[in-house]
Amino acid sequence: MQHTDGRPAEPGGGVADGATFDFIVCGAGSAGSVVAGLLSADPAATVLLLESGGDDDSQFVRDPDLWPANFGTEREWAFVTEANPQLNGRRLAYSMGRGLGGGGSVNAGVWARGHRTDWDGYAATAKDERWGYRDVLETYRAIEDWHGAPDPERRGTGGPVSVRPSQDVHPLFTTMLDAAEAAGIPRFDSANGALMEHGRGCSVRDENIEDGERRSPYRCYLADHLDRPNLTVLQDTTVSRVLLDGRTAVGVEAVSGGRVTRFRAAHEVVLSAGAINTPAVLLRSGIGDESDLRSFGIPVVQHLPGVGRNLDDHIRFGCVWEAHDIPMPPPTRSQAVCFWEDETRPGAPEFFLYLSPTGSVSPESAAQYPLPERAVTFLPGMRQRGRGQVSLAGTDPTLAPRVDTRFLSDPDDMASALACVAMAREVGNSAAFAPYLKREVAPATSTRADVEMFLRNAVETFWHQCGTARMGADREAVVDGRLRVHGITGLRVADASVLPHVTLANTTAP
Ligand SMILES: Cc1cc2nc3c(=O)[nH]c(=O)nc-3n(C[C@H](O)[C@H](O)[C@H](O)COP(=O)(O)OP(=O)(O)OC[C@H]3O[C@@H](n4cnc5c(N)ncnc54)[C@H](O)[C@@H]3O)c2cc1C
Repeated sequence: MQHTDGRPAEPGGGVADGATFDFIVCGAGSAGSVVAGLLSADPAATVLLLESGGDDDSQFVRDPDLWPANFGTEREWAFVTEANPQLNGRRLAYSMGRGLGGGGSVNAGVWARGHRTDWDGYAATAKDERWGYRDVLETYRAIEDWHGAPDPERRGTGGPVSVRPSQDVHPLFTTMLDAAEAAGIPRFDSANGALMEHGRGCSVRDENIEDGERRSPYRCYLADHLDRPNLTVLQDTTVSRVLLDGRTAVGVEAVSGGRVTRFRAAHEVVLSAGAINTPAVLLRSGIGDESDLRSFGIPVVQHLPGVGRNLDDHIRFGCVWEAHDIPMPPPTRSQAVCFWEDETRPGAPEFFLYLSPTGSVSPESAAQYPLPERAVTFLPGMRQRGRGQVSLAGTDPTLAPRVDTRFLSDPDDMASALACVAMAREVGNSAAFAPYLKREVAPATSTRADVEMFLRNAVETFWHQCGTARMGADREAVVDGRLRVHGITGLRVADASVLPHVTLANTTAP
């Protein structure tokens, strides 16, 4: 039974209260749709996939150039962060995708695998070699259908996910690569090949886009299999908590059309609700820090202090130039990317840089530095040392969780951000860009205090939320290397929550 045609689901989706499935997957985003697609490939297993949002049948999903048009629609969770004293008290818009495909249906279409050191670090944290780069590289080779320069050691063909380098690269982006090379960042054939084994490099970006259409993980793994008799997909159905019998997950409670329904899981419940809602579901189920749970009157099932902690993401800050009056590429997707290291954190790249041929800055930054009519924005992204937290605002499942990113709360993160801005300015102010760019608009100052003020107004999210149910074997870990929730039988987390730290770049592929 599938309700994927856009009509509102009837309460409970027509599935009887108490109906039993072998597996219940909660959230049909980048990860959940793959999990449901793979599990339901076995006709002997019955699978229920529950998604809070609606379908992905929209030109704003199909056409990756229209991705920003999804902000402010029913296809996003419009979370708002807690006020951050490091950001002049600002609250940040903290979007995530909602509906079939999740973030994979609304994102910018960058396909970024993560650096070798990310995966080897995960293997060490999880104490499981299968998370190491060597194994993950094999997985990437198996899932990709690569349409770029052959690299049989690293790239695969014939897999379900169609990946290619950006097509018809506009000279603005080849100029970006020229400027990066002049700044000492070597050029590579692909952003996901050998570059992911080096300290710095630049390349045309890779994207999961085919013939101009988005190929989300949902499209690649599930959309063509909705007629499987063993698969039930219910949209407009929001999971409020996991049902537990002692320390065994036996099902979930969900809300649809204002009605509460319970579904039973004979084998396993898999939480794939994303890095904000997965920890919220765990906390409402009595799995989390016991003193926090008690403060809400939630009976403690399993004390796991790491639930909701360790929120990681990339920090983004738009640096703006005024452009000459010459033809610019379509406005929304960077076709090139640069990666480089932070001298204070040697070993792996920590920074990346995209370029948007339009003005793309926070409201506060736009107020401080009014955008010229013809604006180009360099978009640096950086990994942070600090970590944020997701916590409950109350026990009502319709209440959005509290999200405190704590961006720039670690004093060394400001020093890193200053170094990151310096490289973006070197690229933007290079001789290579002179035919395109008239003058720097923001930050356009070298005074440390002024650049710091620019950053406090400019910082935004790169929408790479992760880490809030991280894997590992230590006291703060929430799941083990096989993604099983510590102390609970029959419950896994499979989404970006499990990543111990954010990968080098975008997070759909990881
Ligand atoms: C605007 C934007 C641009 C981005 N650009 C890129 C990019 O270009 N490249 C890239 O690699 N990454 C990008 N990302 C990030 C990427 O999309 C996410 O990291 C990725 O989708 C995370 O996958 P996930 O499965 O962990 O969570 P999600 O994809 O967010 O999926 C979670 C799903 O669970 C559903 N859900 C939540 N709560 C419940 C509940 N209680 N009950 C039922 N269902 C629930 C949600 O509606 C959602 O469908 C972007 C993200 C955004 C928001």
